[in-house]
Amino acid sequence: MTARETRDRIQDIPQETGVLIAGGGPVGLSAAVELGRRGVRCLIVEPRRVVSQLRPRAKTTNVRTMEHFRRWGLAERLREVAPLKVDWSQDVVFCTTLLGHEVMRFTNCLGLSPQRTEAFAEPGQQIAQPLVEEVLREAVSDLEPCDLCLGWSLHSLQQDDNGALTTIASEWGDYRQIRASYVLGCDGARSVVRAAIGVHYEGTSDRRPNFGLVFRAPGLAEQQPHGPAVHYWVLNPACPGVLGRMDLEDVWWAIANGVPAEVGQAAPYALIHGLVGSEIEAEVLGTDPWTARMLLADRYHSGRVFLAGDAAHLNPPWGGHGFNTGIGDAVNIGWKLAAILDGWGGERLLASYEAERRPVAERTIREAVANMSVLAPELGNPDLAAPGLVGEHARRAAAQVIRATKDREFHSLGLVLGYQYDASPVIVDDGTPALPEGQAYVPTARPGARLPHRWLPDGASLYDRLGNGFSLLRLRDDANVAPLIESAAARRVPLTVVELRGQALETLYEASLLLVRPDQHVAWRGVSMDRPAADAIIDRARGA
Ligand SMILES: Cc1cc2nc3c(=O)[nH]c(=O)nc-3n(C[C@H](O)[C@H](O)[C@H](O)COP(=O)(O)OP(=O)(O)OC[C@H]3O[C@@H](n4cnc5c(N)ncnc54)[C@H](O)[C@@H]3O)c2cc1C
Repeated sequence: MTARETRDRIQDIPQETGVLIAGGGPVGLSAAVELGRRGVRCLIVEPRRVVSQLRPRAKTTNVRTMEHFRRWGLAERLREVAPLKVDWSQDVVFCTTLLGHEVMRFTNCLGLSPQRTEAFAEPGQQIAQPLVEEVLREAVSDLEPCDLCLGWSLHSLQQDDNGALTTIASEWGDYRQIRASYVLGCDGARSVVRAAIGVHYEGTSDRRPNFGLVFRAPGLAEQQPHGPAVHYWVLNPACPGVLGRMDLEDVWWAIANGVPAEVGQAAPYALIHGLVGSEIEAEVLGTDPWTARMLLADRYHSGRVFLAGDAAHLNPPWGGHGFNTGIGDAVNIGWKLAAILDGWGGERLLASYEAERRPVAERTIREAVANMSVLAPELGNPDLAAPGLVGEHARRAAAQVIRATKDREFHSLGLVLGYQYDASPVIVDDGTPALPEGQAYVPTARPGARLPHRWLPDGASLYDRLGNGFSLLRLRDDANVAPLIESAAARRVPLTVVELRGQALETLYEASLLLVRPDQHVAWRGVSMDRPAADAIIDRARGA
């Protein structure tokens, strides 16, 4: 963009907005989609004009995030641009080197289910984060209420009782003041917003550095003996790490564990050769040194300013949960801010954001740390590549250890789908005991949980029948919906009645009526009630 175009753009930037979103990474953009689809004016400031394909970072877009993409009408678009389709592979392979012996293989990993599964509306998708960001940028640009300001960053902010006065700065040193009713800090690990509101990260960093690479290696895919897999974990003690394909052409990503930045920068080809197990021809396209961090913000908000995504929490990437947890934040704060700005959300609704999302981040950090406790360096052993019986025994023993220690990392639907908003002030607790946290997903319609998904007899996803606001599910003919409908109408709470009589869902959901929130979580379940009881339910769910 020329300086002239930028000046023109400055004229376009509104002086006021509903929500100013600092950071147009995956989380800020998702928040914009959630808000924009609800008609909320928002302005996203993001310094990066162009998304770099050479810093892929997240590759796992999990089942839950894909369900949100489906709700936004973006799931098909994401799958269209993803080079590795779900049916291409669902495997994770452990090997001595990429061209060496296979040691162990996990199947059906990371929610990559090519067949329809009752438990979810969308399978996961392997796709590099920059491609996800491009799909989200496209979507935000198509939403009339959203202004995406590329080349701009948040410089400072001051709050008062009615909102925040923010100063944004362009890459050319222009400044502009914007008043916003609310501010969302989605500006990543070094969040300016977090610092501005005096919130602190608590936690630690891993002692081991990692070195990320993207490289081109013509013919490597055909040479390697393991067939399609989304990860190849390399247990070479001299060069442990993980590799995977960026596309079905010649581009690969790699992570070398325990390699400081200066070592990786000085000898990136040695790392590729060590991981592959041969001095192949390769061209390094990009490098990305990083260290795993376990950090959680001590608070998620101050007044009218909220934090989401990496600005609020950082976890080691093992298991692929970081950005996915951030999308959950964006959805949660998104519909709640929209409810407040639309006038039907109560004063406790925004406070429920931290109560609901911070425990999810805490659990995610715990799980990711457990995943990180055994990585390729811990599993490597020179005997694995030895010839004859010595190698065979070593590989068999290693396979047992891998099965025992790594399964959780690749099969984690208990975390991805099973998180529950137990301590929430806007959930109507029905007194049933909370399910223990587990690796497997156990469907439950207990208030606070994600509504268990079902495919309907006509082939539609139950989620596609839910409304944009709250949904009232009627599972029995004699369940009386009138009091809840009247109560919601009196409070201007958007409510869609979904008739599911005769679908045998009553046993699964353990109720004849369910109130489901805009984010597909159950707010309340029960049986017919009178108007005062309905008022109490609706008021609690809307945070009044
Ligand atoms: C090697 C690796 C692998 C990973 N794999 C996975 C995975 O498989 N699955 C997964 O879920 N997660 C994964 N992650 C984590 C994931 O990359 C992050 O969690 C994700 O990028 C967080 O998104 P975000 O939008 O919160 O923050 P970011 O992606 O950091 O985006 C923040 C944005 O804010 C902008 N910004 C910064 N300062 C300002 C400012 N002052 N004003 C305005 N904007 C600003 C930045 O330019 C940036 O675009 C991985 C991470 C690493 C390092």
